[in-house]
Amino acid sequence: MSSTSSKKKIAIFGSTGSIGTQALEVIRGNGDDMEVEILTAQTNDELLVKQALEFNPNAVVIGDETKYNNVKTALASTDIKVFAGEEALEEVAAFDTYDIMLAAIVGFAGLKPTLKAVEQGKVIALANKETLVVAGDIVMQKAIENKSPIIPVDSEHSAIFQCLVGEARNPIEKIILTASGGPFFGKKPNFLVNVKRDHALQHPNWNMGAKITIDSATLMNKGLEMIEAKWLFNLQPHQIEVVIHPQSIIHSMVQFEDGSIKAQMGLPDMKLPIQYALGFPGRIKNEFPRFNYKKYPVLNFDEPDYRTFRNLGLATEALQRGGNCPCVLNAANEIAVWAFLKNRIGFLDITAVVEKTMAAIAFIEKPSLQEYFDSDGEARNFAASLMKI
Ligand code: NAD
Ligand code: MG
Repeated sequence: MSSTSSKKKIAIFGSTGSIGTQALEVIRGNGDDMEVEILTAQTNDELLVKQALEFNPNAVVIGDETKYNNVKTALASTDIKVFAGEEALEEVAAFDTYDIMLAAIVGFAGLKPTLKAVEQGKVIALANKETLVVAGDIVMQKAIENKSPIIPVDSEHSAIFQCLVGEARNPIEKIILTASGGPFFGKKPNFLVNVKRDHALQHPNWNMGAKITIDSATLMNKGLEMIEAKWLFNLQPHQIEVVIHPQSIIHSMVQFEDGSIKAQMGLPDMKLPIQYALGFPGRIKNEFPRFNYKKYPVLNFDEPDYRTFRNLGLATEALQRGGNCPCVLNAANEIAVWAFLKNRIGFLDITAVVEKTMAAIAFIEKPSLQEYFDSDGEARNFAASLMKI
């Protein structure tokens, strides 16, 4: 909080989530070099207050305005500023008192505050992939204009980013995004049709928020990551490949024009890419468990099953068409995943909703920011009408 300190000041947007809480663990272990400046949460006021009392930020935001009084009262004996509501997220994102935004809100909701931070030229440690899926061209353009470095936190993109250090002059031939395959790897539609929420929420390798866990089970997560990679690394669709790698040890690979492939490996633990992004360009010594190759005599690679996991094909189509298509895909997916989590629709219906919404919403080749917001809204309404919700 003190403006004279040389510590990196970090704003965690989405501090109560899976990424947010792991980021706080990382900061707890690096108190000499990092401090928390802003924390935000949507509904979990109790955890937000607990975090604020421990890390003593300058400001907190609770998204759900009905919880404002709880937070304000609980922090009354501190000088922590308390804000509430969606617009407050943008307000605090514009503060000049922090250095790095960890963008760890889930979904489209992360776009506006992240754009605000980009406009301030902040360093962005980006977990919220939906920001780039929805409006990647505008976000990357603004990042260049404002000299705002975007450092990926998503493990695959962090892996590629790490493989590219020292390779600025060397063109990429292609990238190979690894996917665990999720809990239903090898399953067919006759099995998937009966899958229930609780089963889909059990991921074999990663412990994550509900939305991304369902996206991992449907493989939409990998589809979103293809689009995220296009913008982060300035790639053409044909340069992006997906391979199933069930052990999640190789986090992704880059193939250069001489045919050489670099891969980044490690145990599946999001604290690593979070710490890398917060510490960049340095690597910070830690005591996280180390990868022991003797426990992994075999690493497997498989083709994804595009016939069963049709979301991958839909995301590839959105990647190739560009324009507002990825934004529409994302909006329909967010609504459909929400409905699945509420037991309103079946597992395979998620794909059907996305497909029908993509077919229904008018294509815009070069949308403005407002047109992205409008496409998001239209797609949400259309998807909801399909499900009668
Ligand atoms: P999560 O659901 O665990 O946490 C989401 C956070 O965002 C919470 O703090 C919540 O309060 C906040 N939030 C939710 N809705 C909001 C809204 N409408 N407005 C403002 N804040 C809101 O999610 P997560 O798993 O931590 O994922 C966060 C982001 O990171 C996602 O975009 C996800 O794709 C990405 N990501 C997560 C992981 C992981 O391991 N969890 C890995 C890679 C990428
Ligand atoms: Mg990922």
